[in-house]
Amino acid sequence: MTQEKKKQVKMKDVQAIADEKSCPVQRSLVFIEEFLAEPMCGRCFPCSMGSYESRIRVKRFIDGSASEDDIATLKKISSQMLTASMCKKGKDTAAYIAEQLETDAFSEHIAGSCTPNECSGFLTYFIIPDNCTMCGDCLDACKDFAIYGEKIKPFISGYTPFEIAQKRCTKCGECIKVCKYNAIITKTAKEIEKENVGA
Ligand code: SF4
Ligand code: SF4
Ligand code: SF4
Repeated sequence: MTQEKKKQVKMKDVQAIADEKSCPVQRSLVFIEEFLAEPMCGRCFPCSMGSYESRIRVKRFIDGSASEDDIATLKKISSQMLTASMCKKGKDTAAYIAEQLETDAFSEHIAGSCTPNECSGFLTYFIIPDNCTMCGDCLDACKDFAIYGEKIKPFISGYTPFEIAQKRCTKCGECIKVCKYNAIITKTAKEIEKENVGA
């Protein structure tokens, strides 16, 4: 298989991974991460300067800290990359991100929501008290000291389920990965709003 053929197959794979996402922001991240997974040759100025900046800006939409300036900058970078890139991969990546930027999703994220609920910044993490066995695994996994509770000791009672301090939680998702008891869940802002209305 020629080098060009290999690259084409790879771009097809990237497209397939991106297509699994519903959120245009997440799709953009798939493309930019893939683009930066290989060493940057640096032949084109807009790409060598802009691709890393694009990743930083796209991640802001995911964590909920983006502003209008991020949309403008991403549009500028993708347009310059589209014009100046000397390789197909650079052009394909820029064209794909430019296409995603045409959707309303980026503005929607600035306004505080991710409709497909794929971006972590718009989720809130909770511990279900009834499911929590007080094993302490989430406490060890949380690098932001956002979980409080005391690990249960055999034959000693009086322990209360663990809790998440929302103000400290950076929504990294590490606690969910380690909880073996399905005691940690996420809720979207809309779900919380509905519950509060129904309460
Ligand atoms: S667009 Fe392609 S050729 Fe240009 S710097 Fe980026 S990777 Fe290199
Ligand atoms: S990992 Fe799960 S079960 Fe264990 S303390 Fe945390 S929330 Fe509770
Ligand atoms: S999502 Fe991250 S920061 Fe928040 S409680 Fe879980 S591990 Fe801690």
